[in-house]
Amino acid sequence: MLNYSLKQMGAALRAKEISSVELTRLYLERIAAHNPVYNAYITTDEKTSLEQACLADEMLAKGEAQPLTGIPIAQKDIFCAKGWRTTCGSRMLSDFIAPYDAHVIEQFNKAGAINLGKTNMDEFAMGSSNETSYFGSVRNPWDQERVPGGSSGGAAAAVAARLCAAATGTDTGGSIRQPAALCGISGIKPTYGTVSRYGMIAFASSLDQAGPMARSAEDCALLLNLMTGFDERDSTSLQREKEDYARDLDQPLKGLRIGLPKEFFAEGLSSDVASRVEEALSEYRKLGAVTVDISLPNSRLAVPVYYVLAPAEASSNLSRYDGVRYGYRAPEYADLSEMYEQSRSQGFGAEVKRRIMIGTYVLSHGYYDAYYLQAQKIRRLIAQDFAEAFKSCDVIMGPTSPSTSFRLGEKGDDPVQMYLSDIYTIAVNLAGLPGMSIPCGFGANNMPAGLQIIGNYFDEARMLNVAHQYQLATDWHSRSPV
Ligand code: GLN
Repeated sequence: MLNYSLKQMGAALRAKEISSVELTRLYLERIAAHNPVYNAYITTDEKTSLEQACLADEMLAKGEAQPLTGIPIAQKDIFCAKGWRTTCGSRMLSDFIAPYDAHVIEQFNKAGAINLGKTNMDEFAMGSSNETSYFGSVRNPWDQERVPGGSSGGAAAAVAARLCAAATGTDTGGSIRQPAALCGISGIKPTYGTVSRYGMIAFASSLDQAGPMARSAEDCALLLNLMTGFDERDSTSLQREKEDYARDLDQPLKGLRIGLPKEFFAEGLSSDVASRVEEALSEYRKLGAVTVDISLPNSRLAVPVYYVLAPAEASSNLSRYDGVRYGYRAPEYADLSEMYEQSRSQGFGAEVKRRIMIGTYVLSHGYYDAYYLQAQKIRRLIAQDFAEAFKSCDVIMGPTSPSTSFRLGEKGDDPVQMYLSDIYTIAVNLAGLPGMSIPCGFGANNMPAGLQIIGNYFDEARMLNVAHQYQLATDWHSRSPV
């Protein structure tokens, strides 16, 4: 059952081979047994999960089941879920109980899916290793001495270790794709504006986007069907027809044009990941695809641009944590300004403070033009590079991450090294494009490697098709560390 696809799990539930309560219990027992090691979940609430499962069983009994009814899903702890502790990986929100549901949570609830718990993450989604979480590091199920990636590291580890059927993540600069790659699972960041950000704790609002993390592209398609859709409560939510992301899964790939950006295969890419990506490309050629060389000349500026824009937005978004309206308040202070100072000093961790300081600096009078405005201009050039590239190809491929998973503590003292983990993912967020990662074999130390697939705006169905056809021809996605 643990290795069933979501489709098979749904069928088993509808055929009454297992009830949702039994299935939920199975996962809760696994979490109780293994979470002390992996630390993939920050919060579980057995009673609430089982109550939801009872309701799902009623829906199933009445024949009202939808594709995900009764299926236990892990939710990243960045989504507000009514009555659930929602921490965003921070001391600042360590005892915040959300008074309402995020759009994403609402969608899962309406479909009768089970909230299995809230997954661990880098503090305010800032990180690439899950080591900035106030609740401690997550361990990679393929090697417990290594990181799961970040910021959706708990989600990726939970999916890989079979501690949930599937999970949600969010991706501001790579936080769905990079942990998916490092844990050997599949994940997709949709086109910006496709999934409502309502109730999703904000990091960098012009980049943040939620998406599914699962064991296969087919599973991702089912989750995405549920997560997307117009929501008037998010001013950047796009008003589009609802679509079925699984509709093209079975299309053959003959004639597919895969663009290979030369910048993604240059210095900085480790040889083991490069080999796995090359092998995946050979597989695609066997499936009838052709590869074309392309260039994304401004992509080398993506990391520096991101580390101006994302902190700028973060410094503004995180100003709401003032010790008054939300979250942590220092126990002792002499006056109002010291209350702010102490609450924020104690409530935020080092990486979050670093970002707030950078963001405040680049937005300050006299520096705004030199940094923020310049970065916005280059952001436009990066998007134009992709537009140009998509004139000669249907999808773009390359590595998701420059290396496989690294050791816990290995990059902790060197923020720049950590930031470079997202060198291939960040440009996609800056352009607002959809991107995904699928497992494509194992590299150094037998750790999973990820293939990145980038599509044009709203091309998620095609990307999922491209990923699914590869997963029919290979079995990397069904390898399990447990
Ligand atoms: N690792 C990047 C950062 O630290 C991206 C994080 C994300 O996508 N949320 O900002």
